[in-house]
Amino acid sequence: MAIGDCTRLVEKIISRIRSWGARSLSYAGRLILVQSVLSQLHSYWTRIFIIPLTVIDRVERICRNYLWSGSDLYLRAPAVAWEKVCREKKCGGLGVVSCREWNIAMLGKYVWWIAAKADHLWIRWVNHIYIKNQPWMDYKPTTTTSWTWRKICHVKDQFKDGYVGGNWCRNQGRYTVADGYSWLQPEAPKVTWYPLIWNASVVPKHAYIGWLAMQGRLLTKDRLGSFGIQNDGQCEICQAHLENHTHMLYLCCYSQHCWSLLWEWLDYKFPLIGLCDWFRRWRCKTLIKKQIIAAAIVGLIYHIWFARNICRLEARLQAPWAILKQLKVELQARFQRPSKIELVQKSVWACQLLAV
Ligand SMILES: [Zn+2]
Repeated sequence: MAIGDCTRLVEKIISRIRSWGARSLSYAGRLILVQSVLSQLHSYWTRIFIIPLTVIDRVERICRNYLWSGSDLYLRAPAVAWEKVCREKKCGGLGVVSCREWNIAMLGKYVWWIAAKADHLWIRWVNHIYIKNQPWMDYKPTTTTSWTWRKICHVKDQFKDGYVGGNWCRNQGRYTVADGYSWLQPEAPKVTWYPLIWNASVVPKHAYIGWLAMQGRLLTKDRLGSFGIQNDGQCEICQAHLENHTHMLYLCCYSQHCWSLLWEWLDYKFPLIGLCDWFRRWRCKTLIKKQIIAAAIVGLIYHIWFARNICRLEARLQAPWAILKQLKVELQARFQRPSKIELVQKSVWACQLLAV
């Protein structure tokens, strides 16, 4: 498949991203759209064709631009590198599937068919024409063979370490595209904040801002300064300390006031220092309590950041009780959904809290 043949694919992606609805989505909504566009690509295009790298680069560029700026054009620098966005959520990413590696994993299927001597006409043909009883894992193609065949042989070299005695090393010797993809992923340590941020009860738009906050990637004044953007460096809200993530989210008098109102509402006080570690280790008797507290913590981080931005752009500060009120409304809506309500009704604490 040549680059020109993929124009329709790229146009289709751009038209979805430029549609009226896509422009007004939040970060969390954009992430879902990017995942749906890419999954369509994986389930149809890469299954049938070998997509040229130039096209994969273009598709990833469009998705990356859209995720960070809401447009297919480059309007702002990404806060997190695309390689990291493509990591699993438990390793600090957003779980977006990398086109490049999915395409390699897809080609890995041909490598496995040849290694497993599958009963296909094509396998018999390549054995007869190219391999000719040589050991497949050591086989080297000549320069006169086709581009597709050389590409498959190159992928074979990438997967070579995954074969033990001619058998795929995982999944009971059976290769699948999903398993090949996960095998290709570099070893990355698990992040401590995974159980807090990606708890199923957290509101998606809150989780997204929480994900950026945990990595220190919100555009606070200290970060802007590190990019060479001149600013006074003072906290937008109290004007008494330098603005960084720790101060803005936990130590500022404004945020402290918000946290104390949250503790009061939840009738439960948790530590702000080492918050993620505490949450990970916390053995709570009821599942719903842990879910509500995760949703409340991440929700408050979102609202403090939102209040800071309003203060910066409109020079007005939302009262802490007002953001708590808004958070309560959001959590009540979240936990009154049919999938949650039964669990809530089993806990007196949760029923009182959410006025169910
Ligand atoms: Zn402050």
